[in-house]
Amino acid sequence: MTDEIAIDPALVERFIMEMARFGAHSDTGVWRTVYSPEWVGATDLYARWCEDAGLKVKRDAVGNVWGRLDGTDGGKAIVSGSHIDTQAPGGRYDGTLGALAGLIALRALKEKYGAPRRPLEAVALCEEEGSRFPAASWWGSRAIIGRISPEDPGRIRGLANETIAQAMREVGLDPARIPEARRHDIDSFIELHIEQGPILEQAGLPVAVVTGITGIRHYLVTLEGTQNHAGAFPMDLRRDPMAGFAEIASGVVDTAHRWGRPAVTTVGRVEAEPNMPAVIPRRVHFTIDARHPDPEACARLHASHERLMQEVAARRGLDLSWEVLIDHRACPSDPGLLGTLQAAARSQEVPFMLMASGAGHDSQQMAAVAKVAMIFVRSKDGRSHTPEEFSSIDDIVAGIKVLAASLYKLAY
Ligand SMILES: [Zn+2]
Repeated sequence: MTDEIAIDPALVERFIMEMARFGAHSDTGVWRTVYSPEWVGATDLYARWCEDAGLKVKRDAVGNVWGRLDGTDGGKAIVSGSHIDTQAPGGRYDGTLGALAGLIALRALKEKYGAPRRPLEAVALCEEEGSRFPAASWWGSRAIIGRISPEDPGRIRGLANETIAQAMREVGLDPARIPEARRHDIDSFIELHIEQGPILEQAGLPVAVVTGITGIRHYLVTLEGTQNHAGAFPMDLRRDPMAGFAEIASGVVDTAHRWGRPAVTTVGRVEAEPNMPAVIPRRVHFTIDARHPDPEACARLHASHERLMQEVAARRGLDLSWEVLIDHRACPSDPGLLGTLQAAARSQEVPFMLMASGAGHDSQQMAAVAKVAMIFVRSKDGRSHTPEEFSSIDDIVAGIKVLAASLYKLAY
């Protein structure tokens, strides 16, 4: 049983509020995209706080900031952190909270227990959101696992059409050196993050131990029929892609609804050609976003959606085609770390539940080189990606205590 690890709520609040000044937007928002002056300010502050805490600071080739406590026995590192870039605008907590939590946990552990046996590191990762460079999501964690190709920096463009290579040079980073950010010496990565959904609030709990990150697939579907007059063509002689779309949209959403949590399916976009009140359209394009955290169930969910599309198209005489735009495999948390996190929560007397993440996170990239698991902290009204996102200091302190006790167990 780990002793109670004291986390100072005043320090937590001060760190959150001071960090939120970099990119402060409206009353409570933060607009801090990667390689912007605000991002530079935030990473400088993070590095200074790491130094103040007695950590060795290193900035890697893409701009991730690391703070390290060497271990007396050496070996692979136990790492905790998250991203320090935000949506445009986002809030004070998404990502930033995890970067700060790692630093605060290491600081508390060093004060109470001194040097760890194994190396411990806190990290502030860059460009998770893709809010400046949409094709560069998870840029910082992808550099760590070696998943950035040599062409990417010159090819990936931001919303103002600048390349990410230009943006890196402007802040003194050399894109040719990105491969140097690669790490092969990370044993475990634990990411604390806000929940971004309403489940903890509904359950009346401050914290969740995350069992895995959902698999996500995006389909772009096209249904083609025959464009004709809305009055002159009897129903039985139509090839109406809108009618097929309606049946498919209703069917796939209904499937996820009947499966229940944690399956989710969303039809978020639809376009008809032409888009006229008195015309049976020629073509309908729409998207399906389908997610499940269990890899096997995820595959079954996708197969069921595909079967329905084929059945409806065949019955209605429509031509059906689809493209898969995004396909991320589900990423289950490491079973050993899950046990450690739950034991840590019990030792700190923090009530918790188990939950899957419906959103993507840096952890799913880090899983390529390390064992991963996550801690969620309750989000007010389940909100995120907005200046209105909020988590209470009490809940945040509870989450950091679970994190610190887990790191203690792994590294001391
Ligand atoms: Zn995030």
